Amino acid sequence: MMSSDAKRILVIGGGISGITAAVEAAEVGYEVILVEKEPCLGGRVIRMHQYFPKMCPPACGLEINLRRIRQNPRITVYTLAEVEHVSGSRGNFEVSIHQRPRYVTGNVPIPDTLVDSLESLRPDEFNYGMGKTKALYLPHEMAYPMMHVLDRRALSVHDKEHIQRTCPQGTIDLDMQSKSIQVNVGSMIVATGWQPYDAAKIAPLGFGRCTNVITNVMMERLAANNGPTGGTVLRPSDSIEPKTVAFVQCAGSRDENHLPYCSSVCCMGTLKQTRYIRERCPEAAISIFYIDIRTTGRHEKYYYDLLGDDHVRFVKGKVARVDEEPATRNLKVDVEDSMSGKKYQGCFDLVILATGIVPCAGIAKLPIPGLQYDGYGFLVNDEGERGIFAAGCARRPSDVSQSVKDGTAAALKAIQCL
Ligand SMILES: Cc1cc2nc3c(=O)[nH]c(=O)nc-3n(C[C@H](O)[C@H](O)[C@H](O)COP(=O)(O)OP(=O)(O)OC[C@H]3O[C@@H](n4cnc5c(N)ncnc54)[C@H](O)[C@@H]3O)c2cc1C
Repeated sequence: MMSSDAKRILVIGGGISGITAAVEAAEVGYEVILVEKEPCLGGRVIRMHQYFPKMCPPACGLEINLRRIRQNPRITVYTLAEVEHVSGSRGNFEVSIHQRPRYVTGNVPIPDTLVDSLESLRPDEFNYGMGKTKALYLPHEMAYPMMHVLDRRALSVHDKEHIQRTCPQGTIDLDMQSKSIQVNVGSMIVATGWQPYDAAKIAPLGFGRCTNVITNVMMERLAANNGPTGGTVLRPSDSIEPKTVAFVQCAGSRDENHLPYCSSVCCMGTLKQTRYIRERCPEAAISIFYIDIRTTGRHEKYYYDLLGDDHVRFVKGKVARVDEEPATRNLKVDVEDSMSGKKYQGCFDLVILATGIVPCAGIAKLPIPGLQYDGYGFLVNDEGERGIFAAGCARRPSDVSQSVKDGTAAALKAIQCL
């Protein structure tokens, strides 16, 4: 007879892959511990305006899954948490989880007046650094758990005293400590996802040097109704609607100096974002500079639909350099057209770099003995020998639909090897 510990599964990462794995395993009777390093679940998908292929808001898919988590007593969620040590082997892992303090107890709701009265600000990570939030903040309006979090390091002495003086009893605990939680599990799923490639490393493309060069993930937030501009596409330097927009595909991808591989979702990401701009700035002229447009299966329709749009121009060519005109902050883009072999310069109001996917697990290696990585930092599954499975973008660049399938498959494998 198997002990209940051995029937427990640890899922690391609370994006769409990890959430899927957790609910699928829990709904067939297994206990699940879900560990997420951020203050709430949802991963990268929750920060999108819409997601292809159906162009629905992220709430569509995530809300129902978050409800399934909320209603399932077999799932224990630890946010602000990371695995710090693992010992044992398949069937009986001993796992130590480190949980950082939230400083918000959750026992009493945080009054809006308290948040408003604070002066301390911090960079808004949810909006990829575009804008700031108060040091006491709700990550976003769909957050699970729906709880504020306090960025203690950003809190001024004045605000600290203000909280101590005026905060209702039991709301905030400024002395809250980090915790170490010990659990026993029989198998593990690693769904730690991805982060965008650091565009500042591709120096010629101007990110960080030119104010109106942004990345594709920032573009998602600019289009989002709950984003920094309330969903109006405005260029950063002067908050004016762009009239000419350039997308630079494979920014750092398929490039031996940066990411040698194709992230597989960036072309679809750009076609989706082209639609955002067509809707919001109908007069804008959009140029897409690409090496190849990679859309598979039914996704190809997105490409063909835009080919017939006279506001959208596809240019097979490599962008060599982006520079800023100091007076206007407009962008000069040097391109080599691969079809004609000619070099020319275009001028744009806004440039969006389609940067690729970098696996989080490859950057900050997890303290799990025996995990195997490929040459790019994605995890390699061993088909069950060790009882540890990877899902979603921790394993390979994938879209939401593939990540959901991956999460389900990982849950099944994790169950089978208990
Ligand atoms: C510009 C762009 C647009 C895109 N648009 C679409 C689209 O429209 N449609 C579509 O299908 N796909 C789209 N994608 C792909 C989509 O983002 C991914 O398929 C999806 O995010 C994969 O989910 P995931 O759970 O594997 O990873 P993530 O979403 O990255 O989630 C991983 C989670 O793990 C957490 N985590 C990381 N490390 C740790 C750790 N050590 N401990 C605990 N937790 C950890 C993270 O905080 C995060 O919550 C797009 C991608 C890009 C780049």
